[in-house]
This record gives sequence, structure tokens and C-alpha cells, in this order.
Amino acid sequence: MSAAAIFLGVNFAIGLCFSAVFAVVSIYSRWRFAALLFCGGLFVASLTMLAELGIAFADHPQLWAMAAYGTVLAGLIMLHWGVSVLYDRPFPKWFAASIFFAGMAAYLVVVDLPRFWWGYGFVYQGPYALVTLSAALHVFLSERRTAMDRALAIVLVVSGGHFLVKATLAAVMGPGSTPSAYVSTNYAVVSQSITAVLIVAVGLMLLAVLTLDIMAVERGRAERDSLSGLANRRGFEKAVKRVIDRRGEHQNTLILCDLDHFKSINDTYGHHAGDMVINAFGTMIAAQAGSGAIVGRIGGEEFAVFLQDTSPSMAVAVAETLRIGVRTMMIPGLPGGFVVTASFGVTALPARGDLAAALRDADVALYSAKRGGRDCVHQSRGMAA
Ligand code: GH3
Ligand code: MG
Ligand code: MG
Repeated sequence: MSAAAIFLGVNFAIGLCFSAVFAVVSIYSRWRFAALLFCGGLFVASLTMLAELGIAFADHPQLWAMAAYGTVLAGLIMLHWGVSVLYDRPFPKWFAASIFFAGMAAYLVVVDLPRFWWGYGFVYQGPYALVTLSAALHVFLSERRTAMDRALAIVLVVSGGHFLVKATLAAVMGPGSTPSAYVSTNYAVVSQSITAVLIVAVGLMLLAVLTLDIMAVERGRAERDSLSGLANRRGFEKAVKRVIDRRGEHQNTLILCDLDHFKSINDTYGHHAGDMVINAFGTMIAAQAGSGAIVGRIGGEEFAVFLQDTSPSMAVAVAETLRIGVRTMMIPGLPGGFVVTASFGVTALPARGDLAAALRDADVALYSAKRGGRDCVHQSRGMAA
């Protein structure tokens, strides 16, 4: 068996492995359709390796040769489609169909020409290069511009370019006098080994893009509270630290809010009604605190509001607005006229201050508001002085 035939077998296995991995990734990714297109594209393109063996060893090599060409073209078009879906770019069906039929027509034109003609490889490889470079262009033109997206675009450009390099190599080295002779040429060994590297490179890049997206979605979920839709403690602390690091010299403030006698609401009207109160409380705070505020549900019925670039007196005014806001909440499941109240602790968070220390200070102020009769706003000692 020739070295090129071994490479064909290896490339077939690599293509199938990546195809299987994308089938699994499609279960977890929100880009399920794109992942399935990558799975299908790699599967279809892998079939070309079988067709190449058919050309060399089976009857009717012309038919196998056409299948070998068409499967790669169809596979690349599916990969392009998947890339367009993933990058939110248009992918008209007429474009896919025209490229496919134009590619097959180019193949049929060239198939009866002498294979040693220098232009043979360019007509043969041209549609492959066009589809892959068009996919790269779609990534470049998309709104996503992370390092990973750039890397994918570059790998697609290199892959598109490699088809033209192959065409040049075919002209220099000779692709074999007949399709059956291809598999025993040196050109086939070089061509299939470059292809092996690029299948792995493109497969890994697409996999990395989808996997990073899955991780980002999971990270977002881990930092969000499902009941209120707000950040949880972890998400709140992370968002606040990001602002403190970015805008270090500003004076910020922190408000802690805790529903009053919430346990008795649960005990009297049920846990579901309690959940409705928590939800309404979170919605009200997020609406009233202003667009620059960071709001999080940091405990059962305890919320935190971070106000950037805000003076302590402004923060107390915001807390008073929230206190009145709670009293006017309408909660389905609670009797009409039932008034929910909450207590508030306010503290300053000095420039480059420590969030954990500020949370402790605000908690002391909140505890003081509870002891002071609830339904009121207290400031931390340092701030009130
Ligand atoms: P205080 O005025 O001193 O804050 O009294 P409280 O009853 O509000 O405080 P306490 O800490 O005694 O009770 C808080 C209750 O909040 C106990 C817990 O069962 C309830 N709780 C915590 N998380 C949830 C939740 O997600 N849903 C509901 N319905 N209740 C919750
Ligand atoms: Mg409470
Ligand atoms: Mg509490």
C-alpha cells in the first residue's frame, strides 16, 4: 500500500473523529445547528477518502473520481454554512447551490483535459479555495472579534490558500496521468499530509470556539440567580470588582436590603407567595436603582446595590426611594392592602476600597436598621460621622 493510501485512511479516521465530537458538542451547545453542520460537513468530506481508494482499486474510476470531488465540495459548503450560522452571517441557499453546481461543472470541464496541464489543479481546487476563503471572510466581517475568532479566520484563510498551493504543487509535481495513478504519486503524499494538518487545525479551532461559548454560557449561569434573574453573590462581587478595578479613583457606595419579617410571609401565605415577593423586590430594586447600578441577590431575601461614582447622601436618597418602592409593591398571592417592608444599610466604598469590608460595614448598618424598628435606612458609622 502506498504512503498516500495510508494518509487517506488516516485522514478518513481524523475526519470521522471530529465529526463524532461535533455530534456530542451539539448536545451541549446553544449553536446546535452549527455544530450539526460541522458534524455533517466533516462526515461528508471524509467520504472522499473512501472514494479515492475506490478510484485506485475499484471499477468505474470516473464515477468514484466525481464522488471524491463532490463530497469534499459538499462538506466544505456545509462547514461554511455552519460558520455563517455561528457568526450570525447570511448564507443564502442559492449561493451554496450555485457554488456546488459551478464546482461540479468546473470538474466536468477539466476531467477530460490532460492532467499535466498547469491550469488543471487551479480549476479543480478553485471552488474548494473559494468556499473556504468565503467562510474566512464571513468570520472577519462578523461582529465577534475575540482572539479565538481571529485565529479561526486565519486558519480558514490558510486552509483556503492551501488549495491553491496544492494546485501549484500539482502543476510542479504532477498529479498522475489518470485519477487511478494519483494515489501512487509523490504529489498525493504531500497533498494528503498537508490536508491532515489542516483538518486537525480547522476542527480544533471550530471546537475551541464552540467549547469556549459553552463555558461562557455556564459561567453566566453560575453567576445568576434563577428566581430574580439578577446576579447572585458571586456574580455581584465579580461585577463590582471589575468596576472598582477599572474606575479606581471614584467614590462608590453600597446598599444592603433585607425584607422584614419575611419568614412570617412564607409561614402565612406559603413559600410560593414568598418567592413572588422576592421576585417583585428584585425587579423593583433593579428598576429604581438606575442604569449604572449593579444589583444582586446575595442571600435568601437579601439584596445588594452598588452605586458607582455616588456620594453617601445620594445613596441614602436612593435607599429611601427603594424603601418606599417596597411598600407599594403589588404581589399576586398576597391579600390586597398587604404592605411588604424592608430595611436598608448604606455604606461608602472608598476609591480602591475593599468590597468585603464594605459588605461587612453595610451589614452592621442593616442590623442597626432592624434593631431600630425595621422599614428604615441606616448608614454605617464611619459614613454617618
Ligand atoms: P428580619 O426582619 O429580621 O429579616 O426577619 P426575617 O423573617 O425576614 O428573617 P429570617 O432570616 O428569620 O428569615 C428569612 C427567611 O427567608 C427564612 C427562609 O426560609 C426564607 N427564604 C430564604 N430564601 C427563600 C426563597 O428563595 N424563597 C422563599 N419563599 N423564602 C426564602
Ligand atoms: Mg429578612
Ligand atoms: Mg435575611
